[in-house]
Amino acid sequence: MRKQKVGVITLGCSKNVVDSERLMRQMKINDFEIIDDPQKADVVVINTCGFIEAAKEESINTILNAVKLKSKGKIKKIIVSGCLSQRYKPELEKEIPEVDAFFGTENYAGIIKELGGELKYELLGERLLTTPSHMAYLKISEGCNNPCSFCAIPLIRGTHKSKTIEELVKEAEFLAENNTKELVLIGQDTTDYGIDIYGKRNLAKLLERLSEIEKIQWIRLLYAYPSHFPKDVIEVLANNPKLCKYIDMPLQHISDNVLKSMRRGITSRRTRELLYQIRERIPEVTLRTTFIVGYPTETDNDFEQLCDFVKEIHFDRIGVFTYSIEENTPGFVLGDPIPMDVKEERKSILMEIQKDISSEKNQQLIGKTLRVIVDGFEGAADEGFYVSRSEMDAPEVDCEILIPATNNVSVGNFYDVKIYDSNEYDLFGNVI
Ligand code: SF4
Repeated sequence: MRKQKVGVITLGCSKNVVDSERLMRQMKINDFEIIDDPQKADVVVINTCGFIEAAKEESINTILNAVKLKSKGKIKKIIVSGCLSQRYKPELEKEIPEVDAFFGTENYAGIIKELGGELKYELLGERLLTTPSHMAYLKISEGCNNPCSFCAIPLIRGTHKSKTIEELVKEAEFLAENNTKELVLIGQDTTDYGIDIYGKRNLAKLLERLSEIEKIQWIRLLYAYPSHFPKDVIEVLANNPKLCKYIDMPLQHISDNVLKSMRRGITSRRTRELLYQIRERIPEVTLRTTFIVGYPTETDNDFEQLCDFVKEIHFDRIGVFTYSIEENTPGFVLGDPIPMDVKEERKSILMEIQKDISSEKNQQLIGKTLRVIVDGFEGAADEGFYVSRSEMDAPEVDCEILIPATNNVSVGNFYDVKIYDSNEYDLFGNVI
């Protein structure tokens, strides 16, 4: 009998990527054929995002495109899962009846059953990677206990749930046996790791255990939360050569008025203390953060404070988002008084400040040698570039180090590269 062809579309964040990879592994085990082009599939599975307005729109448009394919008889079945479906299932079922089934987040058993298969629980730690095989996200926890006023994640993903160290080591060993060399640790709040199952924050121990896996060479920490950043993690990052000297810690803002209204549980003074403490202990650390501009109570003065803060700290990498009002979040009652054009203007002012900082920092790397991992190749065969990253660059969001095609390198390997040029976001180097 012909294998059922399934096309999986993953929207949203790296946590959704991991969920899709787990599901796709189960599909493979059940002998379904996974294909890249949804138009050629029998069944399309859409793993949606429902975090903010823009993401919700993208998810709905993707579903409606699949409905069009079904109406033309190109595909037989549509299954929708993920955060949008978790958050708005009843409304979606009423609005888009052409969809065959809606599932929430992490309902692998339901989807596999809907496809006519059976879930293999014992193999749930296994994944079919959609990232280049040398790099994999490791989702150490799901859900969040923090009360941030603007955020719908706790409504969608529930409270913080850690995986055990044993489960995560087993998953990481599976990935290492499948060529993974870089693990990127993710969660909604990775610094809360273990608080639910070990009664204390246990991220430092997890990092140490993962670094004992021989084939894993880089371990990177994303989504750290500032107000309860475990001090023992700073020590482990400083001392363990496999841990990238890299911390992604969304701060969202720096004005005490805004931080208080956002319920971030930290003040501007304590934020600075933490950043200086990390830099003092790990001088070469790469600091990445994200900010929200246009939050309902943000005044011109609050925004100025944020600009001054970015100039003061000289972050290595920043992301800026415009505030998106979300129903049922604690901040919903504040409304959305700041016009979009003002939000956009503040976003571009902040990104402009950072562009100068990033350009200056990149220039200082000319003549330096960096250890990089090659992610892929872009451009024409002999005039294109190998795209690589150093310890200072997380996948998909940070700078790239471009290596001319004349260099003899292969994807997935590490090389020492001497930097000969830079621009505000990328570096150029040759293998030495
Ligand atoms: S830490 Fe705050 S912003 Fe992040 S997922 Fe939790 S509630 Fe949302």
